[in-house]
Amino acid sequence: MFPKQHFLIGLVFSALFVTAFPQIGILGFLLILASSVLIDVDHYLYYVHEEKNWSLKNAFKWFVIKHKEYLQLPKTERSKHRKLFFFLHGIEPLILLFILGYFFHTWFYYILIGFAFHLFLDIVQIKKYQDSLYKLSVIYDWFRFKRD
Ligand SMILES: [Zn+2]
Repeated sequence: MFPKQHFLIGLVFSALFVTAFPQIGILGFLLILASSVLIDVDHYLYYVHEEKNWSLKNAFKWFVIKHKEYLQLPKTERSKHRKLFFFLHGIEPLILLFILGYFFHTWFYYILIGFAFHLFLDIVQIKKYQDSLYKLSVIYDWFRFKRD
């Protein structure tokens, strides 16, 4: 799912969330919205690392091409597709945010909600594209990524 869709759906989600829990305030609303989109910064950093290029525009184009290539594969092949590594897309960052929220500030909980919502949307979409269940571990991904 691309940032624009994440932003629009995230906006609706954050608005509903702040309506249900007005005590989170405008800051809570903004943190949930921002984190539901900005979690994808790991995609950009992956691109920078792989291509040694800092252009955000090029990174976007690169992912559009990668996504098209992926969609051209038969559904059964897609889960075997070479995995890209995104260090914020997984359960471990959520656990870390929970710990930070518990010990330091509720702001981390809002980021956790935004990240979790984003991951939920990604999983819903990935399940449409491929048969196998989407994993949710950054550590698992890392070892798979290293092996491929
Ligand atoms: Zn994502």
